[in-house]
Amino acid sequence: MNFIQTRGNDESRAKTVTFSEAILAPIASFGGLYVPESLPFLGEDFLNKHINSSYKELASDMLSRFEIDIKQEVIDEALALYDNFDDANNPVPVKKVKENLYISELYHGPTRAFKDMALQPFGVVLSSIAQMRNEHYLILAATSGDTGPAALETFKNRRNVRVACLYPDGGTSDVQRLQMVTEDAKNLKVIGIHGVFDDAQNALKRLLASEEFKSALKKKNVLLSAANSVNFGRIIFQIIYHIHSYLELVRQNAISLGEKVYLNVPSGNFGNALGGYYAWKMGLSVEKIIISSNENNVLTKLIKTGKYDLRDSSVVSTTSPAMDILKSSNIERILFDMFGSDRTKELMENLEVDNVYVLTSSELEKLQKSFDADYCDGDEGKKYIKETFANDGYLMDPHTATCMKSYETCSNPEIKTIAYSTAEWTKFSPVIASALTGEVDAHDMDALESISKTANLDIPDMIKGLFTKNVAQNLVINKEDIEKEILKFL
Ligand SMILES: *Cc1c(COP(=O)(O)O)cnc(C)c1O
Repeated sequence: MNFIQTRGNDESRAKTVTFSEAILAPIASFGGLYVPESLPFLGEDFLNKHINSSYKELASDMLSRFEIDIKQEVIDEALALYDNFDDANNPVPVKKVKENLYISELYHGPTRAFKDMALQPFGVVLSSIAQMRNEHYLILAATSGDTGPAALETFKNRRNVRVACLYPDGGTSDVQRLQMVTEDAKNLKVIGIHGVFDDAQNALKRLLASEEFKSALKKKNVLLSAANSVNFGRIIFQIIYHIHSYLELVRQNAISLGEKVYLNVPSGNFGNALGGYYAWKMGLSVEKIIISSNENNVLTKLIKTGKYDLRDSSVVSTTSPAMDILKSSNIERILFDMFGSDRTKELMENLEVDNVYVLTSSELEKLQKSFDADYCDGDEGKKYIKETFANDGYLMDPHTATCMKSYETCSNPEIKTIAYSTAEWTKFSPVIASALTGEVDAHDMDALESISKTANLDIPDMIKGLFTKNVAQNLVINKEDIEKEILKFL
């Protein structure tokens, strides 16, 4: 299967590329993205066949239908990483929370958040492509907390790949920072920046675009890449768990095969939701995909009004920081799928030039056939965390909690919902402790202990251990010195 481009072809690039090529250089003509030429249709036969399959069997068969240029043994090695999740037999447990609400838990991997679902196997795939081509890559990452730990964890000690990860010093939770700075491997460099997340992100964008930096790397025989969530190498692994979660509901006798469900997704850069959309197009029975957001609610407005409007808006910090995004990159792939490349190019150019685009009423109608959306603020989120724990005995993190509002406002209760939980309670403990007991400004360790007592849950060893683990990465610098430090590391 080859990959085509969301904004058409600029003649300076190949019209179509292989999966490996789309992974190594994810930005396409006119600043667009790569998408598969067509999606394999799986349909009910495929679902029937996999009713009793393991996660890995399902994943392996689904990936084989894409006919990508990656050897089966590499795919097997990549999927074997799901064996390191809490339960090797079921890396993504789906739990009944209310009569019609099921929560699919995407956080049972090594860094306790959903980024592991795709980044774990992606690390193996990227390293194997680099080895096959006999090339060395530097992966740059900027993180406000979740992507950094997951990227470091997956590339740790992998051949032909090095990672430089920038984070804002003081801008992440204790647990997130410790997950990064305790990573001890020769091919990893973690760099704290005096500044906020935008400073780290802007530095990353500048370096990715800098010819000078690239030629300095070239002298060291290193090529530049990024592991951000527009990379199709991540998206492909995010289709699987939507199909798996549906089959779990069938296995639990909650639905019969073919019955429609809602997928309710806490969304930021829209990778998770896009995976659900592709699963639907590949034959999963879906009523609608419901997009849940926090106060940074551009997606809610787009889906409700057809207007993507960034004029007069700036990112606000919320209690669900992994969703503090205004430019939600993967929406572009939905625009392409629904309206084609010419229109996508036009809309994305409007956004870049005028900070706004507006869909026609027939385009909006089409979008609304597939999506609905709502958002909730931090206080509402805490209320949902508290209530769901008190009434249903289920503890959720602040990202997952955004789904509870849209579950109430957007879904028909006759139809079952699969909502996605994207982080374990241990990752955002101060907010959760505050929701449960009202305490404010607790440090992570105190919050973890208080939740552990209130909810009668054990703090996982891998989280507890972070607080006594040796800090291997203690570099904190001014943003002007980033380039110099990275070159020194190489
Ligand atoms: C990344 C992330 C999200 C948002 O997922 P997208 O695929 O970017 O929409 C939600 N919750 C958590 C905890 C995350 O880490």
